[in-house]
Amino acid sequence: MPTRVLVIDDEYGVRSGIRQILELEGYAVEVAENGRQALDLLDTHNFDVALIDYQLPDIDGLTLLSSMRSRKLATSTCMITAYANIDTAIAATRQGVDFFLPKPFSPDDLLGVVETLARHKLLKEEAEKLRKENEANLLALATEKSQTASLVASLHDAVLVINREREVVLANQVMAALLGRSPTELLRMPIDTALAGDGFAGLTGLLSEQDQPEQKVAELAIGDSIFFASVVTFHGTDGAALGRILTLADVTLLRKMAMEKPRFIRTMVHEFRSPLGAIRSLIEVATEKSLGDKLEPYLPYLERADHRIDRLVELIGELLSLSRIDLERTANASEPPTDVATAVAMTVDLYRPKIAARKLDATVLVEANLPRARIGDEDFKTILGNLLGNAIKYCREGGNLLVSAKQSSGKILVEVADSGIGIKSENLPRLFEEFFREKRAETRDIDGNGLGLAIVKRLVERTGGKIEVESTVGVGSVFRVSLAPVS
Ligand code: ADP
Repeated sequence: MPTRVLVIDDEYGVRSGIRQILELEGYAVEVAENGRQALDLLDTHNFDVALIDYQLPDIDGLTLLSSMRSRKLATSTCMITAYANIDTAIAATRQGVDFFLPKPFSPDDLLGVVETLARHKLLKEEAEKLRKENEANLLALATEKSQTASLVASLHDAVLVINREREVVLANQVMAALLGRSPTELLRMPIDTALAGDGFAGLTGLLSEQDQPEQKVAELAIGDSIFFASVVTFHGTDGAALGRILTLADVTLLRKMAMEKPRFIRTMVHEFRSPLGAIRSLIEVATEKSLGDKLEPYLPYLERADHRIDRLVELIGELLSLSRIDLERTANASEPPTDVATAVAMTVDLYRPKIAARKLDATVLVEANLPRARIGDEDFKTILGNLLGNAIKYCREGGNLLVSAKQSSGKILVEVADSGIGIKSENLPRLFEEFFREKRAETRDIDGNGLGLAIVKRLVERTGGKIEVESTVGVGSVFRVSLAPVS
């Protein structure tokens, strides 16, 4: 594309003369005879070079220059004037003029100036392009750096990077806390110094220089926690090893859970095996005809076996409930909220025969106009049923029960209190564990499998509620459930 030149001069002769000279040399030339025309052309066309006469009929050359400047044009400019003096030169330079061409000038002078200005414009453009690229690169680099830094900082895992000289070049907050130092303190610290404290022998071994495979993993104990540690060697573009990245994921809870599972299965097997053994012995009395040929003497044995089978069926039902709650994990949000007064009345009614059988005095107090509770009806009844069932079982005959529901501190508080045998304070923390039962003389003859409270706790907590217990041996217990109301 030819270099585009705009010639701004009010004298026709000068304009056309310049145009002729430039066009002969292959330049694309437009002319303007005043400032207005020049600005119109500059607004609609791109020019590489503008030759501006100092004195124009409407606006003078300096004002035109300042208008061009405010338009941030890339055009290189040259002022043509017959009255070149130092003041004009200074004023024009302030407005950003690139060159001066005093009149009269020869065609060669003109061509020399235009060529220089065209080159000047090209250089200016290239410099601008480079500046923009540089700016964009710096911005990208800064963004990338801060993104990486905040990513590493926000990681839940501990991260540490060492260079080839085995100095720490990065450690996030989690790692620093683990090593008992600040991330900045760790920077450039030799790794052996960073790991000099007690309890990091495992990490030192993992990062030792003797063997350096691409990746090493191990499970390590640091203090009371168990970590899954991984060391990866990272490389530069040329393939050379630059350093190593150590990450530590806290797997204490996972390990604990993994250890819980076999314990749970062992207890479950025991819970099945002992009643099955008892049922077999009871049936054997009949199959071996130990009590003669008549059916009558065997009936109490068969009834006991039947009772044991009932307990086993109950156990299977509770185990299924437990696994269903664990599988669902969160409560079904689409379940309609519970009308507490109705649900309490229905549940208590269901237990009336048992209450009567144990001659208990049961009081039900439900505050009027309670809001609905944010929990499904079935779940609510299972919770209350379990608590009430326990209160009845663990109460002495003729004792007292109180079931109440009220609003307290923005929650719905449901309480089940009994004047029963109570719970030893040292057992309270374990009360909600699966299969936990207090082994006391008073509980020996009371049926149960230790799953009820585990189910209750899970149901309460998965709706965001809380369960607490207060108990005194020989005096009684209070189980307190707080649930969110529907606002
Ligand atoms: P269980 O089927 O044995 O009743 P739970 O999980 O319901 O199982 O209760 C666990 C244990 O907590 C019971 O075995 C009992 O020792 C104790 N417990 C629960 N509720 C009461 C209560 N109201 N009074 C005294 N002890 C209780």
